[in-house]
Amino acid sequence: KKITIAIDGFSSTGKSTIAKQLANSLGYVYVDTGAMYRAVTLYAMQNNLIAKDYFKVEELIAALPTIKLQFKFSAEAGFAEIFLNGLNVEKDIRNIEVSSFVSKVAEISEVRSKLVEQQQEMGKDKGIVMDGRDIGTVVFPEAELKIFMNATADTRAERRYDELKAKGDQVTYEAVLKNVQERDYIDTHREDSPLIVAEDAIEMDNSSMTKDEQFNFVSTLVND
Ligand code: C5P
Repeated sequence: KKITIAIDGFSSTGKSTIAKQLANSLGYVYVDTGAMYRAVTLYAMQNNLIAKDYFKVEELIAALPTIKLQFKFSAEAGFAEIFLNGLNVEKDIRNIEVSSFVSKVAEISEVRSKLVEQQQEMGKDKGIVMDGRDIGTVVFPEAELKIFMNATADTRAERRYDELKAKGDQVTYEAVLKNVQERDYIDTHREDSPLIVAEDAIEMDNSSMTKDEQFNFVSTLVND
């Protein structure tokens, strides 16, 4: 019987790696909700609604109905990539600029309710793995399996730094660590749906686990 799997946790804990592996091994649909908040942030940047010294919140809220997000499966990538108003933006949403603004965009209730509604629609049939910050608490409180991932900020920053470097991004480790810590702070302190561990979630600290160990651990939970 197919179930709903919610994977929540702090930034750069490897949620999407586990979620993708699980979805592929189970034949489930994978939805990366962070990509949706990132795409809305990219929209705000492209339309000069957010920058280092300003954030036009009301204008972004007014523009929300014109922001169309879609996921389309890419055989090459092996997962569904995100499209913003018809354009594939998968490669434009992971950089440090988007990362530096995204948690501010994700604080806005109107943004959250629009995205949560779309997430609930995408997951209305079982057989889904969704990762984010509020999946087990807000989007699918009735999910059969909830996993909450954590790792030390240093471990997470190191992993993200290696990833960005491998893509040729010019970032420093300090900037990545600062971004991870800032997002942790905003995500856990916002008024609307702050990042908290769902009561019935299974917590997993993967600071000293290999990818294989993590996958084996999570697979056992699914089979229970
Ligand atoms: O998962 P990822 O790091 O790509 O998410 C980017 C940001 O989007 C997070 O730091 C968080 O501020 C926000 N987010 C959220 N709720 C979700 C998923 C992401 O607030 N369900």
